[in-house]
Amino acid sequence: MAQSSLDKLRILADAAKYDASCASSGAEKRIAKPGGIGSTTGSGICHSYTPDGRCVSLLKILLTNYCLFDCAYCINRRSSNVRRARFSVDEVVDLTLGFYKRNYIEGLFLSSGIIRSPDYTMEQMMLVARKLRRDHGFAGYIHLKAIPEASPWLLEQAGLFADRMSVNIELASDVSLKRLAPEKDSRSISSAMGQMSERIAEAREERRSFAPAGQSTQMIVGADETTDEAVLRTSATLYSEYRLKRVYYSAFSPIPEASPNLPVKAPPLRRENRLYQADWLLRFYGFTVEEIAAGGEGGMLDLRIDPKLAYALKHRERFPVDVNSADRELLLRVPGLGSRAVDKIIASRRQTRLRWEDVARLSGGLRRARVFLVTADHHPARLIDRADLRDRLTPPARQLNLFE
Ligand code: SF4
Repeated sequence: MAQSSLDKLRILADAAKYDASCASSGAEKRIAKPGGIGSTTGSGICHSYTPDGRCVSLLKILLTNYCLFDCAYCINRRSSNVRRARFSVDEVVDLTLGFYKRNYIEGLFLSSGIIRSPDYTMEQMMLVARKLRRDHGFAGYIHLKAIPEASPWLLEQAGLFADRMSVNIELASDVSLKRLAPEKDSRSISSAMGQMSERIAEAREERRSFAPAGQSTQMIVGADETTDEAVLRTSATLYSEYRLKRVYYSAFSPIPEASPNLPVKAPPLRRENRLYQADWLLRFYGFTVEEIAAGGEGGMLDLRIDPKLAYALKHRERFPVDVNSADRELLLRVPGLGSRAVDKIIASRRQTRLRWEDVARLSGGLRRARVFLVTADHHPARLIDRADLRDRLTPPARQLNLFE
């Protein structure tokens, strides 16, 4: 039965919502040449958020939700009983331009199920980006999902037209990938990431454009028994080996007619949130995976408190720290002190011995830092050993409203 574009859009935009790796921060500023269309701002495409809190760029679609593969956690797997649809290259181009001209979107996030072969699928996606850029002078943001098994040449071509490329790792452990996505090959995923990383670095050196907003990936959490510590260890490796811009964490959503190998319940969304906080500590605060994991139990992050506070409570011997003499690394471990506040503190203490009110002026979130910081006029030494400290710093459980 012939489907209208609107019908396909309903199916393929809905199918794309499971992919979290759609944010576009880091896009280059680009303005269309005369006769072209579109522009990106320095801070990248605007994002919207679905009701469950996932980040969605406004035209986030699949080229098709047909797929040759049968990954157990995926709604689009070949054995899934969902409505299928497929866009042609021209349909995606027309939709993108149409939405863009009506000011609905700032760009395109395009992913796809695998049809015919990885090469064929990657070529179709690359053609969408090439047509938009070359034939229509489209200067908006383009994020393409890379198909790991596609030929290196196609991946390279795609990177010439896309702002960001992402290769989804999906699961942190090879064993789980083999069990839940047996047709996927972790070596192809790593090799595609490695190739992207090299091309991006080369292009930067040669001052030419190749996926200028870098590459990202997504990991599903809660579909297997992998611990948060193992997830973060994989992320740390991805950041250091492939210089990934972002790892996105997506809490597993139970799907209809799921494999018995999958849990029946989604993990708490709070887990996803704690992983993002921990990821932030890894990337910007110099925490190691071991330090973060030490704040939780059995390799899992503490769901009730954020990982930085969890670390400080488990390492009370390191606190309180003196704001007037502690090094940057230690100040960054004080709950409530952000990296900008720490830099301001270090600059200010060269001029004067800081008092509590000076620090309060430099940092917005000092309430929690009270116990962990010493200033010229504040010494909370006895508080740090209190047995009830954790409870005093943990927000009380809140009865949810029926409609929250
Ligand atoms: S290859 Fe991608 S689209 Fe196909 S079943 Fe696996 S995760 Fe889903």
